[in-house]
Amino acid sequence: MFDPVMPVTTKTTCPYCGVGCGVKAELSPDRRLKVKGDITHPANHGRLCSKGTALGATFGLEGRILEPKMRNGDGFRSATWDEALDAVAQKFNAVIDEHGPDAVAFYVSGQLLTEDYYAVNKLAKGYIGTANVDTNSRLCMSSAVAAHKQAFGADLVPAIYDDLTEADLLIFSGHNAAWTHPVLYRRIETLQDQIRVCIDPRRTDTAKNADLHLMIKPQTDVRLWNGLCAHLIARDALDHDFVDRHTSGFSRLMAALSADDQSVEAVAEDCGIAVADLKRFYDLFLHTEKTVSLFSQGSNQSTQGVHKGLALINAHLLSGKIGKPGAAPFSITGQPNAMGGREVGGLANMLAAHMDFDDASKARVQRYWDSPAIAPKPGLKAVDMFEAVRSGKIKAIWIMATNPMVSMPDTNRIREALEICEMVVVSDVIARTDTMEMAHIQLPAAAWGEKDGTVTNSERMISRQRRMTTLPGDVRPDWAIIADVARRMNSAWDKAFSWRTPNDVFQDYVGLTTFENNGSRFLDLGGFAGLDNAGFDSLTPTRWPYAKGKQPAGRLFGDGRFATPDGRARLIPPVAKAPANLPTEDFPFSLNSARVRDHWHTMTRTALAPELNRHTSEPVLDIHPKDARRLGIADGRLARVTTPYGEAIAKARVTDDVREGNLHLPMHWTKQFAPFGRSNQLINPAVDPTSGQPEFKHTPAQVEAFHET
Ligand code: SF4
Repeated sequence: MFDPVMPVTTKTTCPYCGVGCGVKAELSPDRRLKVKGDITHPANHGRLCSKGTALGATFGLEGRILEPKMRNGDGFRSATWDEALDAVAQKFNAVIDEHGPDAVAFYVSGQLLTEDYYAVNKLAKGYIGTANVDTNSRLCMSSAVAAHKQAFGADLVPAIYDDLTEADLLIFSGHNAAWTHPVLYRRIETLQDQIRVCIDPRRTDTAKNADLHLMIKPQTDVRLWNGLCAHLIARDALDHDFVDRHTSGFSRLMAALSADDQSVEAVAEDCGIAVADLKRFYDLFLHTEKTVSLFSQGSNQSTQGVHKGLALINAHLLSGKIGKPGAAPFSITGQPNAMGGREVGGLANMLAAHMDFDDASKARVQRYWDSPAIAPKPGLKAVDMFEAVRSGKIKAIWIMATNPMVSMPDTNRIREALEICEMVVVSDVIARTDTMEMAHIQLPAAAWGEKDGTVTNSERMISRQRRMTTLPGDVRPDWAIIADVARRMNSAWDKAFSWRTPNDVFQDYVGLTTFENNGSRFLDLGGFAGLDNAGFDSLTPTRWPYAKGKQPAGRLFGDGRFATPDGRARLIPPVAKAPANLPTEDFPFSLNSARVRDHWHTMTRTALAPELNRHTSEPVLDIHPKDARRLGIADGRLARVTTPYGEAIAKARVTDDVREGNLHLPMHWTKQFAPFGRSNQLINPAVDPTSGQPEFKHTPAQVEAFHET
């Protein structure tokens, strides 16, 4: 089933971020790997950032789990695949028989390949009959997905990377591209005539290199973008033809905006920035036709994440800056396959292939899958899913390729949830993660370079990840593990999970994207129909939608047609609100959690590369000089941060890169690497009411100097 292959050089895709850079990897027989950027890949044209360049240093077998393991007292013992998978299948069946399908759940990852996502989605939503499949992508871009669906009628990203260099004005809204998407940033940093604006409460590298930095108070983005919309209306700077012919809801938006004082002075005061700076930004937007507004986690990770996205999109719709070269709102995804996951339907609120839980879609998908039990309704999103585990409603959970014990907000609650769960299955490539330790059954998954499949990057470009070595030890690709469990759960499901190769899974998915082509706009646009059976092995980067017999899509909405029933984009009034949990006397600071340049998520791979550890070797707490002076916290000395959810101790960096009253602590460090400095155990679990995305960018906090005794 898994024939070894050992090509000298393999064209594949970087497994880290949503830029999706092409990589040429050269592997020697002793598993030493040299990588360089693939100059033929349209995402990066040969460039790689520090993480991509260090892929070779993280490719060894150090720290890997190479055989299934089962809990044995306080430790784990080796198990065969038969033993481990039978145990998973039997427990899932027993829980479903006794408590129903919604008593099991799958928490997956934007690190998975599209084929893995498809397999788990089909098992849960089509065969078990639960939509309790959610993903760590919930934590990074689900607010943008919801904003796209509300405004455009479907989760369709309008822009392509070429728009970044076409634009005369580039706006980074809650997006530190210089660190989070470095190769995209390299494209534009040398452009002489482009003006760049950064909207961020922190002075990030992107902000330092911008022509204008709007260092707003945390969570005032909606106010700022609503103010821009009001400014466009007041200055009669609308694209009237576009608004009249291609949008709906203008009157309602006008009425909502007029309920607040939208003067530049009032907005600037609420956002905590200079009036002159805000005026300059508004006038730049007003006068620059070719404008791209990038938004990412700083916008999405908020209880107002969806409304932030809508407010930014409204400004583009009102001014007609969409669907044209160098003009679009552009959500950038964090993970390498966050986009592939949302295409498949790997979010609890999506059914499959961009279809929702309406009756027609459920019937269509059930017919295609010939499935016994289609999930009747959306499932639980990440935070609610772990709460249901904690309350005992979910009794068995399978966590794939992610480390929620470090990456979720309020991680102490995640620990409580997993401690009482009857069965925790974790499939991953690393033996020792904080989540692996909580498992009853550990399954060894194939890592990057050991499995084949596809990923989709932020500009809807599907690329291949290719296998370049034999599978070490007893590891297996995720899709194959999922299919094996499905067959063990019910022999009547054998046919539906009989895939022999990742191409079989991919073709199953392609078939669904075109089946009874009368559903979502994604299907109307052709889905993946152009990606035929023969094309999988030799697939070169291809952007969807890709209708059979046509060219793959470029930027979307050039014809002014959106995916809503009337073809018009919706102007939805966003409401500017305070964060869910306001600072108090006991917790007067606002704590922000973000990432550093050279680490990825919970460091399970990047910590293996000495060159990546050098950039930021430990978690550092940023605090403003005035706050530090008042509290007696010295630069380079320890400080203790406390929130209602937990505490952490980290070295302080006294800097005006954060606003007075704000703190910043990065998220990557695990119990192994920084037992006292873990950030996400401090983060409040409040979520956006629509997207379910947690508010990582604001938690009320207290801070004090910490003196070791
Ligand atoms: Fe990998 Fe992202 Fe760096 Fe490209 S920019 S090399 S995809 S981490």
